[in-house]
Amino acid sequence: MATEGIYAELDALVSDISEQMIGWRRHIHQNPELSNREFKTAALIEKSLKDAGLDEVRTGIAGQGIVGILRGGQPGDRVVALRADFDALPIKETSGEDFASTVIDEDYPGGPFPVAHACGHDCHAAVVMASAHVLAKVRDQLPGTVMFVFQPAEEGPPPGEIAGAKAMLDAGALDDPKPTMVFGMHVGGMPKGTVAYSVGPQYASSCLVSIKITGEGSHGSTPWMGRDPMPVAGEILSGIGQIYRQLAANEAITISIGHVEDAGRFNTLGGEVTLWGTIRCLEERDMPVVQGKLKKLAEGHASAYGCTADVTYDQYVPAVNNTEGWLDAVLPTVRRVIGEDNVFEAPATLGYDDVSFFINACGGAYLVYGVQDTKMDAGGQPVAATSGGRGFVDNHNPAFYAEDDALPDDLRVFVNVAVDHLNGIVNPPVAEPGPAVPHRH
Ligand SMILES: [Zn+2]
Ligand SMILES: [Zn+2]
Repeated sequence: MATEGIYAELDALVSDISEQMIGWRRHIHQNPELSNREFKTAALIEKSLKDAGLDEVRTGIAGQGIVGILRGGQPGDRVVALRADFDALPIKETSGEDFASTVIDEDYPGGPFPVAHACGHDCHAAVVMASAHVLAKVRDQLPGTVMFVFQPAEEGPPPGEIAGAKAMLDAGALDDPKPTMVFGMHVGGMPKGTVAYSVGPQYASSCLVSIKITGEGSHGSTPWMGRDPMPVAGEILSGIGQIYRQLAANEAITISIGHVEDAGRFNTLGGEVTLWGTIRCLEERDMPVVQGKLKKLAEGHASAYGCTADVTYDQYVPAVNNTEGWLDAVLPTVRRVIGEDNVFEAPATLGYDDVSFFINACGGAYLVYGVQDTKMDAGGQPVAATSGGRGFVDNHNPAFYAEDDALPDDLRVFVNVAVDHLNGIVNPPVAEPGPAVPHRH
């Protein structure tokens, strides 16, 4: 296959656009917007895709979702979707970058909130924008179609609002044409220019938990005159520690209650306490089991204290599964582009990413791309590469950072995977075994 020529051309186009891409990244970083309010960022992406000369730019999908379509000049049925999310987090940035955010969203529900790109979605957006420019310049050589999928609200919209990958799917964003492969990478704290993957679950399944315990309020001096929901909350919090022991210890789960909302004060027992939290399960099959056990625990304790518990689960996101078949298909291209030594297997995380909805619908892979000044230690953990350097800072940490000079290789991986899929080099596995692949032992 005559692909050698196009690879050199892609590299040249990547160097041509790198400075501009880093400019976009910095601009988006400095102007972050919270989930489902990404108006200015969406406008910037739309303009950039139109400037790239795509065949179509569809906007306003499930909120600020955007899909750009590039039809290649050669015959081919393949459709590769490159995915980026572009929302930020309610976090006060402490990265120390000279393009750090000082934005405060005054109007966001529950706010005001400081806003920062502490998960690196600014990088994701800039890289996929740049990939549209690069691939548009080689369109005559492309046998098939490239979709550029910009997804809002990955970090979760305000409660009660519908948004994110599932909402885009429901709105038909990937129906016409339907991708034959979805590809994406999340930036993280591994050494700059490396790619990590895990076989099977890459990111956990997740859901939001709310447990509303209702009793009857009373004066703090006379608890027997009411039905105090507070001890129930305490029992549930300790009982959660026992749920772990009812599941296989080698299947990672976490249940965390991060917020307690109550109606009382120091001398008044309120009639209601609500616990807010999250469940994460690396193995999809554990989610309904954990949900069932937590519900039983909450209802049982509530009943023992004469109260009731209303347990609801919301914002469900399936696990991201990288099947062995898709990894075997895509990793040779990744190794060719960034070098054998820069691609390694790493443990999955209990974070989530709703790209899982896209991958479950169409197939594909989602990898992790290193953007920090780190090296891997003997135990397989990223540590500072240079003494006095910034070292490892995890996503969602207020000091999270991504080094600009990591982005050109990130872009090279995207455009090469896209071209190789269209050219029949990265191929869907023939018989894809169900979503989960057994762990290696
Ligand atoms: Zn995040
Ligand atoms: Zn993220």
